Amino acid sequence: MLVKNSEYVTSAVDMEQCPADDLPEAVFSGKSNVGKSSLINALCNKKKLAYVGNTPGKTRMLNFFLLNGNMRFVDLPGYGFAKVSKEKRSSYSGLAEEFMQKRKNIKIVIQLLDIRHEPSEDDIQMIDFLNQTQIPFLISVSKCDKLSKAQYMKRAGEIVEKLRIDPDTPFILTSSETGQGIEEIWDAIEFYCFGG
Ligand code: GDP
Repeated sequence: MLVKNSEYVTSAVDMEQCPADDLPEAVFSGKSNVGKSSLINALCNKKKLAYVGNTPGKTRMLNFFLLNGNMRFVDLPGYGFAKVSKEKRSSYSGLAEEFMQKRKNIKIVIQLLDIRHEPSEDDIQMIDFLNQTQIPFLISVSKCDKLSKAQYMKRAGEIVEKLRIDPDTPFILTSSETGQGIEEIWDAIEFYCFGG
């Protein structure tokens, strides 16, 4: 998709602060540092739309970005960060969970995993949760440029095996550095946000 305009709109710490219209939303979910901000920037072809390289756990809000005036990206709080107390951790994931359960605008969730790491317990829980909701989702595996093709293909197979995801769930190998997989992610987002 050609993104002519993209802009940060607002951040929310509860459901009341979320935009109150019915624009379709694509939601980005994943562990802190997995590459969510970089992916959002790559999809929008902008260097600094979403902030890259935050202190793990610093981004604790839902961040909304408006694209072409007719859809939004939502950056969920990154989970699994070590520097925040358990109590705070659960309240952030509580917000993400409430958002996923109640927000009517969500058309697709882009769940990120790092090609170099084993899916964590948090990742597996999130994917189980997504499987239970009726929201379409895809797995976007980040940072493939850090491995050779042979290595990332092998890793991808291991990740799929560990997750035991439905074969219909799109599994897209990406790199925000080289642009690998970016068009495929856009195709899925467009399909779910605007129909085929
Ligand atoms: P977030 O916490 O999930 O938003 O992750 P960021 O987008 O801030 O990325 C975390 C770190 O990984 C930063 O240093 C990025 O430059 C780096 N990074 C993210 N995506 C990629 C990628 O596709 N390839 C490479 N080589 N580095 C990446």
